[in-house]
Amino acid sequence: MSGTYGEELEMFRDTVRVFFQREVEPRLRQLANGTDEKFWHDAGRAGLLGIAIPQEHGGPGADPLALCVISEELGRSPAGATLGSCLNGDMTTMFLIRYGSEAQKRRWFPGILRGDVIQCMALTEADSGSDAASIRTRAVRDGDEYVINGSKTYISNGGKAGLIYAVVKTDSSLRGAGMSILLVPGDTPGVERRMLKTAGFPGGDTAEIFFTNVRVPAENLLGEEGQGLKMFLPVISLDRLQICARSQGAAEAAFALTLEYVRNRKIFGQRLIDFQNTQFKMADVETDITLGRALLNEAVRKYRAGAFTDADSSILKIFMPEMEFRVLDTCLQFWGGAGFVEEMTISRMFSAARVQRVYAGATELQKALLARRYLKT
Ligand SMILES: Cc1cc2nc3c(=O)[nH]c(=O)nc-3n(C[C@H](O)[C@H](O)[C@H](O)COP(=O)(O)OP(=O)(O)OC[C@H]3O[C@@H](n4cnc5c(N)ncnc54)[C@H](O)[C@@H]3O)c2cc1C
Repeated sequence: MSGTYGEELEMFRDTVRVFFQREVEPRLRQLANGTDEKFWHDAGRAGLLGIAIPQEHGGPGADPLALCVISEELGRSPAGATLGSCLNGDMTTMFLIRYGSEAQKRRWFPGILRGDVIQCMALTEADSGSDAASIRTRAVRDGDEYVINGSKTYISNGGKAGLIYAVVKTDSSLRGAGMSILLVPGDTPGVERRMLKTAGFPGGDTAEIFFTNVRVPAENLLGEEGQGLKMFLPVISLDRLQICARSQGAAEAAFALTLEYVRNRKIFGQRLIDFQNTQFKMADVETDITLGRALLNEAVRKYRAGAFTDADSSILKIFMPEMEFRVLDTCLQFWGGAGFVEEMTISRMFSAARVQRVYAGATELQKALLARRYLKT
């Protein structure tokens, strides 16, 4: 196989890279407080949105691993740390592809492909993040509508999403088996938002979303009532894969950026790279990114073969973001004070790396999931 993803997706990587270099990086300052319409339309035109939507529904019908290519390049680009995980919002399209009714697909796919419809997955609540099954946002059936009450937080693209995948309890007496997903148009009365200023990802449109007596037609239910958590399971391993691909892209970019810097920076009459400490630390970084690439390659191979287990997914999510953070922390040190200045790419990449260890299942949650197997006799 050529590269990590195979020939076709490695060619797609060039498309993604060109998109970031030509359309996004020159506009980074404008995007620092959030994405704009031009960004989404450019992404749509470049073929980066709705990437796995089948051709019979007007999409490119690409291998869903294309999402990992986008994510890896998002990590590699100097723009990624600003944009956050906005483009990863396309992971939600996988729910529509897998579980959407024909009418839901016809309604939403064209706008997603063009970049007219920004999407968000609204699962996390203030009191339920890692323990997702404890969410309290409720949807009560009232005739041929659902009425939603509750709130969500830390939602990527939450400030702008025109399509909210609201994960709700349709039966509050149950945990996972009481969860359902409702498609909520962003302009539905009763939907309110509050932008959150985050330590990294300034353009990620991270927000709280409030639902107050929000009414949606019953046909906005995705899949079946009570199947919400089950629907997550097949998508979640791809989601973790794409986050880990981002870690790899970011770690490799930080290594390259820092190597160039230490070769040029002079202190005490010599180059920073001439200190043995720098050489050894950079050798540690290269070892880390080599291991990361090997693990990612293996994960992609297994995913394609249908052999990517929950344990594989946890191991990947434990290693990759921790590796990314280790790399960024080591690299940042060489930049001295410049590494703490927000306008420096390395500084923004460091902040971005921090959150990778937390969302989509924090490192400790992954360890707990992995370790469950040890308890079986
Ligand atoms: C920038 C950003 C974007 C996000 N985007 C989205 C989004 O689009 N949609 C969405 O629904 N959510 C999103 N989230 C939310 C994210 O998924 C949660 O923050 C994450 O699941 C952790 O939940 P929590 O914040 O409630 O932390 P908690 O669940 O309170 O966990 C706190 C800490 O406890 C530890 N911990 C967790 N589980 C265990 C365990 N089993 N054993 C021991 N220790 C443990 C970990 O160290 C963890 O960091 C986003 C968050 C951020 C910061």
